[in-house]
Amino acid sequence: MKRRLVRTAVPLQYVKPICVAATLAGVFFVAAGLWLAGLCMLIGAYLLEKNAYCCPKCGKKLDMKRPLLKGAGCPFCGEALRQGKENRS
Ligand SMILES: [Zn+2]
Repeated sequence: MKRRLVRTAVPLQYVKPICVAATLAGVFFVAAGLWLAGLCMLIGAYLLEKNAYCCPKCGKKLDMKRPLLKGAGCPFCGEALRQGKENRS
């Protein structure tokens, strides 16, 4: 069993929105002429996706193209990826 060195502080359901926001900001910076800042944002978004967008249980990388729907599970181990939002009475 492989232990991850860096434990991500970003909840899984926020990784994708942050990546999308950072990518958009990066494109905006590049369009505004601040290509160095834009490049940093794009690289940051890419690294965040690579490092943080994985299953919290088995640690396998998840597909960025697959939407993280409510009740969606890990395609590898079946772990529920979205928790905390649904209220069970
Ligand atoms: Zn898993």
